[in-house]
Amino acid sequence: MLKLQTKTLLALASVMLALTLVITLASLASFRDFSIRAATEHTRTAAEMIRVALTESMLNGTMHKRDSLLERIANVEGLDEARVIRGELVEEQFGNGLEMESNPDPIDYKVLHSGEPVYSLIGGYLSPEFRATIPYIASSSGDVNCLNCHAVPEGSVLGAVTLTASIDHMRTAAIMTVLVLVGAVALFALISLAFLRRLLQPLVTTANEIEDAVKKAKAGDFSVRVTQRSKDEIGAIAQHFNSLSDGIISKLTEIRRNVAHLVQSNPKQQGDLLADTADTVSGLVKVAQFKQAIEEDESSEEVFQRISEVVRDEFGFNNYSIYEVDYNRKQINTINVDGIAQAPTQWCTPDINEKCTACRAVRTGHFIDGTENSLICRSFAPEARQEGQTYLCLPVIQSGGVGSVVQLILKSETEILQAEASRPLLESYLREAAPVLQAKRLMASLRESTLNDAMTGLRNRRFLEEYSDTLVTQCKRRDTAMTLIMMDLDYFKTVNDTYGHDVGDSILVDLANIFKANVRESDLVIRYGGEEFLIILLDTDAEGGFLVADKIRKAVEAHQFKAGSILLNKTISAGLADFPNDGQAFWQVLKYADVSLYAAKDGGRNQVVRFTPDLWVGAETY
Ligand code: GH3
Ligand code: MG
Ligand code: MG
Repeated sequence: MLKLQTKTLLALASVMLALTLVITLASLASFRDFSIRAATEHTRTAAEMIRVALTESMLNGTMHKRDSLLERIANVEGLDEARVIRGELVEEQFGNGLEMESNPDPIDYKVLHSGEPVYSLIGGYLSPEFRATIPYIASSSGDVNCLNCHAVPEGSVLGAVTLTASIDHMRTAAIMTVLVLVGAVALFALISLAFLRRLLQPLVTTANEIEDAVKKAKAGDFSVRVTQRSKDEIGAIAQHFNSLSDGIISKLTEIRRNVAHLVQSNPKQQGDLLADTADTVSGLVKVAQFKQAIEEDESSEEVFQRISEVVRDEFGFNNYSIYEVDYNRKQINTINVDGIAQAPTQWCTPDINEKCTACRAVRTGHFIDGTENSLICRSFAPEARQEGQTYLCLPVIQSGGVGSVVQLILKSETEILQAEASRPLLESYLREAAPVLQAKRLMASLRESTLNDAMTGLRNRRFLEEYSDTLVTQCKRRDTAMTLIMMDLDYFKTVNDTYGHDVGDSILVDLANIFKANVRESDLVIRYGGEEFLIILLDTDAEGGFLVADKIRKAVEAHQFKAGSILLNKTISAGLADFPNDGQAFWQVLKYADVSLYAAKDGGRNQVVRFTPDLWVGAETY
């Protein structure tokens, strides 16, 4: 691309060159014309003088000496040759004359015959000469009557004179003049160029500086300023540009500072301020959308799932862990590993699961950066450390304590830089997630407390009401049976009456433990009423259920309950029915278990009765 200055100067130079060319050509042409006219006039005069001299010689009778006359004329300055040719009529009258007078060349011949003069340029470019061949016409009028001596008709051609004159000096003069003109034009051109250059200089420099500044601004650097060189429009452009840049910088810095405050990071001092700010703002918008989404999520599992998606999709990490701290048990639960929910702990030693303070982020409550020294936390998985991998652990602070931890696994220098750059925004996400997780956790524990029996720690009847549908669905899906065992302590009222309510309560707590110890983890033990319990054995039909119920009965029978310093023996009665073999509806089967319990009581207590349809027939009468 041609610069403005080069373009302008080139245009001016072209105009000057064309002007010089036109002047030169015009001068040369007019000089040529002038030279020819001048030479024509000269030769005409000379020819006339020769005619007068010849006439004079004729009248004075010195015609025989005319060769010396012609020779002397030829020597006249400015003439190279003077030659006279006799016409045919003169030759007839006076003979051939001198040798040169009777040897016409083609031009002489033409002139003798036509009676018209011929003027021409001869001799080429280097030694240009002008030749004039002019006829002498016989005339009776004029100064001398030609017909007095020449026996020829009026108007006939007597002869012709050929004169050759060098026009070299004229050419030199022309060239000199042209040179002077060209010199003058060139000088004028140079002065104009210099003047124009001086005039254009500030405009061009300002334009170049603005171009540079705009280029840098495009890359986010608004610090370049344009020098104000003059007080004219160009100076004003520079000034406006500078104040525009100042305005952009101050507003952008303010926005950047506010935005940085929002993500709680220091604004970058270098780099593309605009792009950096735009990135952070769009990051914050996503954080806001994230917040809205998690607030409407149903459980903390869903919130953790979203955090996992953010880590993976927004920040591009494939390896990470999300942990949740269980302060009641002083444990850490692994919630998500590399995007997989409920996956086993992978990036830390398993001891953190058992002891939450083994996690440095949980213990200290601030982020743990393993990039400098991966031994800073000794619970980082040794295999990963051996492979040169490291970590960045970010705690999620919930009401003063660490509620969860997000751990990024960094496998390369790029990932380390990426983690460093992502930390402020990722922490913004976690800050938003913290109160939501807290609320969800609170809700869950509240809910949990309404479903549990505070005294025994067993599930309560409300839990059964909420959970029975799920139990039925599970049973149907797995195509198995479940056994419902209804249990009731025998003669419990006497315990209360004899030893007091506290002893009664402690017996109930012991009893709950006996139940739990005798069923699988997946089975459900529910405090159904005061001293009535429901045990639901999953994947177990009545036959298998009977064995378990009887095992429990025996365990209770064998157990010695403490009542202060006294040891007591108690027994239980149990009735059981199975779903779906005994009944197609859960609550119906529960009722069948209950009537079986009554049968056990009726049968003398301390026994297990399996439901049979005849029991129901009897019970219907109640
Ligand atoms: P049986 O069942 O063998 O027919 O005789 P029982 O004496 O156990 O009779 P029943 O099951 O009707 O008695 C229920 C008694 O259990 C009433 C109440 O005093 C006692 N009870 C119920 N809930 C609690 C409790 O939470 N704590 C204590 N200490 N006693 C309770
Ligand atoms: Mg009872
Ligand atoms: Mg009882």
